[in-house]
Amino acid sequence: ETTKQDQQEFIFRSKLPDIYIPKHLPLHSYCFENISQFSTRPCLINGNTGDIYTYADVELIARKVAAGLDKIGIQQGDVIMLLLQNSPEFVFAFLGASYLGAMSTTANPFYKPAEIEKQAKASKVKLIITQACYVEKVKDLAKENNVKIICTDSPQEGCLHFSEISSSDENDIPAVKINPNDAVALPYSSGTTGLPKGVMLTHKGLVTSVAQQVDGDNPNLYFHKEDVIMCVLPLFHIYSLNSVLLCGLRVGAAILIMQKFEINALLELVQKYKVTIAPFVPPIVLEIAKSPVVDKYDLSSVRMVISGAAPMGKELEDIVRAKLPNAILGQGYGMTEAGPVLSMCLAFAKEPLAVKSGACGTVVRNAEMKIVDPDTNLSLPRNQAGEFCIRGDQIMKGYLNDPEATENTIDKEGWLHTGDIGYIDDDDEIFIVDRLKELIKHKGFQVAPAELEAMLISNPHISDAAVVSMKDEVAGEIPVAFVVRANGSKISEADIKKYISEQVIFYKRIHRVFFMEKIPKAPSGKILRKDLRAKLVAEVACN
Ligand code: AMP
Repeated sequence: ETTKQDQQEFIFRSKLPDIYIPKHLPLHSYCFENISQFSTRPCLINGNTGDIYTYADVELIARKVAAGLDKIGIQQGDVIMLLLQNSPEFVFAFLGASYLGAMSTTANPFYKPAEIEKQAKASKVKLIITQACYVEKVKDLAKENNVKIICTDSPQEGCLHFSEISSSDENDIPAVKINPNDAVALPYSSGTTGLPKGVMLTHKGLVTSVAQQVDGDNPNLYFHKEDVIMCVLPLFHIYSLNSVLLCGLRVGAAILIMQKFEINALLELVQKYKVTIAPFVPPIVLEIAKSPVVDKYDLSSVRMVISGAAPMGKELEDIVRAKLPNAILGQGYGMTEAGPVLSMCLAFAKEPLAVKSGACGTVVRNAEMKIVDPDTNLSLPRNQAGEFCIRGDQIMKGYLNDPEATENTIDKEGWLHTGDIGYIDDDDEIFIVDRLKELIKHKGFQVAPAELEAMLISNPHISDAAVVSMKDEVAGEIPVAFVVRANGSKISEADIKKYISEQVIFYKRIHRVFFMEKIPKAPSGKILRKDLRAKLVAEVACN
């Protein structure tokens, strides 16, 4: 009989050698470590206003903000919430909090008040930094929980203004000793199961992740200081915060901040500022691929298009390659809990490594990856599909105040289980083929079925419910619900859709409702989502 110990472990590593990573540095010190080489170069370009901040400006303002936050009582270990669209203030506030040893929890400003409140309370925020147009959504929550509000644009009654914070004396930053294992970012993610949870990303974790992407000699063609990086993906998502902003800062590139995606404005900015790096998500790539206006702009400056956060098919890849012949197109694979980057395209390394259509690159350096059979938990060799697991200093420390969920995600040997199914091929390229976990991804945004199910079940007309994903050409996936009506209830599909849409942000809305007698469940009570997805395919085929 073979025991687990007898089995050979199949562990995959990058083809690139490991590098030195200064893991002792706090995140802000690491980002600005080489600033003397580019202090007068542009760091942030505000695409909306044309304002430009040099590296020296950004470092100075971030320090002033740190001193200002200290003055209003933010201390080491405190959590502040950034409820902002992309803006320079987002960057100043995030870095300012880092200087103090405080954490930033980031949230989508389009959230409904109840969604913001859940996150703010769970992470015990002391301060919310937001824009005038969102103040109304957080006023009650702030009052009831003694939370301060800072407004970044037009002054609002009852709120502090960002300029009061950013005009403090930069020498007033208190002396804090930051432990590399302290959290600095607290994005929310539902992970492999359940409700959204606070993901504790530490200084060491983010330093490691950024270094894996842009440090060292080999991928020196990846990002460099002459680059102009488009920052249109929302900074409240870790993909943009880490792989666009922090990576950009580390190398000294210019980061072009766009408040929100709009195709014409985006193309205009690419042309005007000669953008070289374009980190996107598949829906943006799709819009560019399909838009007739693309041909009106000179996009020849773009040398690299990166897509991540959701799968991109081969067809789409091919269209983009044809539209932007000067650019390398590479996919990356990330998961918030993984810090987030697990694998990235290395087509731009000194020795170009092959890139196949549909591949998500190769595993990052200074990390280990394995693929495990979800049933036996044994690791699998190349070309066999199983669950991706990753180990390294870049992964999260754990979920905030949730040791049980942490243990279910990071095993005793330090492997983070992703809930994604795929394989590694003979050339080390990674292919994602399925998702084991219940997570739904709509345009790259997370939809946690458990959150919608809890809302549905709290409706007295509904006795049971399950939410699963349905494929969609534009959004990738859309949430649909299976509902068991309460005895005697005649609640309609329209009623249910409205009931949900009143409580959640647009991308969590339920698109279809199917009524049934009983939700299929395993003896453990676990919803048999695979059965429901199969039923869905059958339903759609019939209609
Ligand atoms: P998030 O934590 O919001 O970044 O979501 C992470 C999840 O998005 C992963 O676990 C995958 O299921 C999915 N994902 C991320 N990148 C890709 C990709 N390149 N291809 C397919 N799925 C992806």
